[in-house]
Amino acid sequence: MTENIAERRLIAVIEDEAPIRKFLRASLVAEGYRVAEADTVQAGLRMITQEPPDLIVLDLGLPDGDGKSLIAEIRQWSTVPIIVVSAHDQEREKIAALDAGADDYLTKPFGVGELLARLRVAIRHHNKGSNSEEPLSQTYRHGPVRVELDSRRVFLDADEVRLTKKEFDLLAMLARNAGRVMTHRNLLKEVWGPHSTHESHYLRVFVANLRKKLEADPARPKLIITEQGVGYRLAESEE
Ligand code: CA
Repeated sequence: MTENIAERRLIAVIEDEAPIRKFLRASLVAEGYRVAEADTVQAGLRMITQEPPDLIVLDLGLPDGDGKSLIAEIRQWSTVPIIVVSAHDQEREKIAALDAGADDYLTKPFGVGELLARLRVAIRHHNKGSNSEEPLSQTYRHGPVRVELDSRRVFLDADEVRLTKKEFDLLAMLARNAGRVMTHRNLLKEVWGPHSTHESHYLRVFVANLRKKLEADPARPKLIITEQGVGYRLAESEE
């Protein structure tokens, strides 16, 4: 990636494992980010109020508190992107963190490529949402798939694909958040309304329908990626 999204942006790393902090610092500084570090919830909170960062990487297992309440606290005064870092046995904490307002997650161990991709998507998405540094794209493209959000039309190469209203609503929600994980709960709430957040079978059916209509091989999806136990992620737009 040659885009200059990293330049001078400050990443706050709140993580109590020194080797992981070291890995994060080395990876991020090499890309041109600035890095501030803390190893507890309290120190992290002090650090991010002193100099507000452009993104927070937050470990969910900290010695003096849980990530979910820290996220809820930060969300009272800031929309800064938050990427949570969890261990394999923290599945429930991870989902709670995403529902509390975290933007995405990384599961340990993770590689530098995955880390930088998550950061790039979260920062870009935040910029589009909060100021007009980058205009909101109304077209999503991935391979032969083109989604026109304005006119609510979907194409596979030159052929228009017929979607039901709910299928389009779901696809549009994923497209507006392309590259980010969307939890089952978020998708259900946005597409079917606030009382549907336990009806996850709706989602499975609609995702299966979308894959049948849009994926070259619906059994091996490249467009709508399943995030096991968490939700779905639409591949990043190629535009
Ligand atoms: Ca930890």
